[in-house]
Amino acid sequence: MIRLEFGSASVVGQVRSGNEDSVLVADGLAAVADGMGGHRAGEVASADAIDALADMEGNRSLDDLVRTVHWANRRISERASADPELRGMGTTVCAVGLVNFEDREQLAVVNVGDSRVYLLGAEGFRQLSEDHSLVESLVREGQITAEEAQSHPQRNVLTRALGVEPVVAVDAWLLRPLSGERILLCSDGLTNELDDERIAAVLGDGDPAELTAQRLAAEADAAGGRDNTSVVVIDIVDSDTADAPFEQRFDRLTTPSVDLSEEGEGPNTERVMAVIPTEATQLSDVAPAPEQPEPMTGDEDIAELAGASDEGDLAAAQAEAAAAGALAARWRTAAFVVAILGVIGLAVGAILFTAGRGWYVREGPDGQVALYRGTPVLWIDPVLVDESGAALEDLTEADAARVRRGRTFSEEATAREFIENIRATTTTTTSTTTTTTSTTTTVRPTTTAPPAGAPTTNAPPGQ
Ligand code: MN
Repeated sequence: MIRLEFGSASVVGQVRSGNEDSVLVADGLAAVADGMGGHRAGEVASADAIDALADMEGNRSLDDLVRTVHWANRRISERASADPELRGMGTTVCAVGLVNFEDREQLAVVNVGDSRVYLLGAEGFRQLSEDHSLVESLVREGQITAEEAQSHPQRNVLTRALGVEPVVAVDAWLLRPLSGERILLCSDGLTNELDDERIAAVLGDGDPAELTAQRLAAEADAAGGRDNTSVVVIDIVDSDTADAPFEQRFDRLTTPSVDLSEEGEGPNTERVMAVIPTEATQLSDVAPAPEQPEPMTGDEDIAELAGASDEGDLAAAQAEAAAAGALAARWRTAAFVVAILGVIGLAVGAILFTAGRGWYVREGPDGQVALYRGTPVLWIDPVLVDESGAALEDLTEADAARVRRGRTFSEEATAREFIENIRATTTTTTSTTTTTTSTTTTVRPTTTAPPAGAPTTNAPPGQ
């Protein structure tokens, strides 16, 4: 037999005028719900979720618990669409209940939203539930760190809540608890004011559950109390579980299909399935949800929309919140692309700058010495300016080779001077050529030029 002791506290805080949180402590069942959607709407939504759970029979199953959360979701979403004053309302809900599963007593943990369920035991302090929030998604995707999530401006944006859609996915786990362990349920009013270390310290002080709950709520209030804070502490007084590692005692579940038609009310009587990833059995290897539900704004964001009860405004705010995460990623990509383009731009600029400067002399299209404007860089050719120079075939071998290699000048005058010098040599050569052919030979540098028709081998001289 598992025996539990409960303690709870819920405070308005120092900023809010009303308390939109609701808390349930009943026979073997505890829950916290954090309503949103503006004053009355938030209170109605969280109270609806808690009332649905409170109406459950004492001897309950996991199936019952999950079904009840589904039912509460549908009821809240129907009320929200039927009553203009309640439009846009929603709520988180987390619950821990004693259930029978496979012929043994266990604790069922269910969650939708960013209220949390923690466990303090011999193996330390850990969060059992997973937040359905934008920042949690970003942390899972590695876009921000857990520390950045703590102070992220959109940490109140939820990706899942009751009352937003006719059907919601409900996370569910089973835990075989050990005597001496403590479970904490709380709204984000606590976790936004106190860090895990402080919460664990207060939980571990050994005060009775009721006093511990009051101390936690009071500390959150003293730390700023910017939101309603609700806390339930559950002590596992007796358990029939043999001492086993946490991983063997905690299982994530695929909840059974839920047939809401038995409830017989409302237009949504089709069979619905709770979509829950099955593979994750440890907190450390949680896979991201297979599809991202439409994110919606948390209570503070709704509060910012005060007076905007219009559904269009709310939808716009929700869309904006949804876009924020994608936008952050897109910005990163854009910044990277801009950086790359910048580097490419600089390189191209440098090439064009270089290519546009200077003067260049080389063999022209018709075999003459030609003057070009610019410098050859990569694929860019200099522009032909003047090809009135001497024909290469009239040059000495040495000059012809220099021209074929090409030569760069920074000044046009120097380039033209170079061409003139070559022409002068050629002219001398040419005039000599007209008199005697032998003279031509003497003009050639005899050491470098092999005799015409000589084999171009590397054979040593004299062979
Ligand atoms: Mn809250």
